[in-house]
Amino acid sequence: MIELNYEFFWKEALNQTFEEIGEQEFNRWFVLVEYRSAAENVLTLGVPSNFYREEVKRRYKTSLEEKLKLISDQDITIEFEIGAVAPQVKIREESEKQTEQSAESVEKPATPTPAVKPSKDKKPPHPHLRPSYNFDSFVIGVNNSFAANAALAITKNPDGTAYNPLFLYGGVGLGKTHLTQAIGNYLYAHTELKIIYTSAENFLNELVDSIGDKKATNAFKNKYRYTDVLLMDDIHFLQGNKGATQEELFHTFNALYDSNKQIVFTSDRPASELKHIPERLISRFGRGLSVDLSPPDYETRCAILKRKAETKKVGIPDDVIALLSKNISSNVRDLEGAFTKLIAYADLAGKKITVEVAQQQLKDVFASPKQANMSVDVIIKVIAEHYQLSPNDLRGKKRSQKIVIPRQIAMFISHEITEFSTTEIGQTFGGRDHTTVMHSCNKIKEKMQSDPKLDTTVQKLVGLIKEYTAKS
Ligand code: ADP
Ligand code: MG
Repeated sequence: MIELNYEFFWKEALNQTFEEIGEQEFNRWFVLVEYRSAAENVLTLGVPSNFYREEVKRRYKTSLEEKLKLISDQDITIEFEIGAVAPQVKIREESEKQTEQSAESVEKPATPTPAVKPSKDKKPPHPHLRPSYNFDSFVIGVNNSFAANAALAITKNPDGTAYNPLFLYGGVGLGKTHLTQAIGNYLYAHTELKIIYTSAENFLNELVDSIGDKKATNAFKNKYRYTDVLLMDDIHFLQGNKGATQEELFHTFNALYDSNKQIVFTSDRPASELKHIPERLISRFGRGLSVDLSPPDYETRCAILKRKAETKKVGIPDDVIALLSKNISSNVRDLEGAFTKLIAYADLAGKKITVEVAQQQLKDVFASPKQANMSVDVIIKVIAEHYQLSPNDLRGKKRSQKIVIPRQIAMFISHEITEFSTTEIGQTFGGRDHTTVMHSCNKIKEKMQSDPKLDTTVQKLVGLIKEYTAKS
């Protein structure tokens, strides 16, 4: 039997897509899409996560299939498979190579290799990096696999060509700092690159300290402009810190970017939602790849706890892991906090960790409203009921006034009381874009200011949602 290979068609379709959508968007969606296999009239692609599969499918499946048909003269359907994906060679480099060489050269994805030879001597720990924040201790789940893959891609190509900058965003305790430092730790251990990890707040403080002292100001500038890798955590801190810091970051960014130095930013929200930051800086943040981290699902929460227990060499029964994972869904930091509290108690009291002990020791944690399993589905359900609509009305595309306002309210409340990003909320509302969610939130905020009745209604709905969540 002849083995089918559609890889050539796939590369060609990718080239055309690149021409169509441009480098930035292409890098956002296609660098982590991998050709996997072919069966008769079916081409299977590997993608790193569920979220990613849905997005690529929604945005590009049809147009890719049309291209494949024109190229191959066959009807080829695209299917997706979730799993670890080796980052692809940037398409532009490939198309350049292809025109230079012959058209039939179909290249394999780049084999990841460290940029610089590993150094033999073991270095002392990096002064700003926590050694435990490494890739081995980071559990990959569907909520973070895109981000983790992007971070890994940078460790393979730290010359600023993979994604520059990488912009990681998401709520507290979801692993932004861990992943960012994992990049730093990896590169520090395996290369001779100069690495700076800092928070935006620290950057600001250093700048302020140096002001007025010419030598110190120069030293500050040089330090940041001549690093090889800049990891800057929590840049949402810059909101409202006008003037000098933003200006300095802008120049630092340009200097590093122009000399192909890798930059990673983290933020608690997408770049487009940052306030009081000049447009030119925001557009720099979004120039490379933006990836969000969302709260881990139940399986990932269990896996994280198991990994922790192994690392700390404590025995913790599966039913206790299940109990914690079920009750603490907001973020990894809270999950870890509860875990640590529990083992500390068991240790001090000389008790075994059991479900009863966990329930008793963690009852406050389990009861706190932040831990409640706030799901957008519940919000949709409660709001639909209140307005005598169906959940599908709220998720769907109908634009009648009767539906539009409740839908906007549902998005607004989802944004207010859950930890989901606008991107994720948009997903739940029938695959809408995060800008639509933001627009809805702003609309409702405005309306609430001028209409106290709406304000009361929203409060009431939030109450109902909380009640429903507590009961279920
Ligand atoms: P953020 O910077 O997004 O607020 P952190 O990176 O500080 O979050 O993560 C909070 C804690 O949770 C850290 O101790 C981190 O090691 C842990 N953590 C987060 N995500 C994971 C993960 N996927 N696997 C293992 N530990 C994680
Ligand atoms: Mg952090």
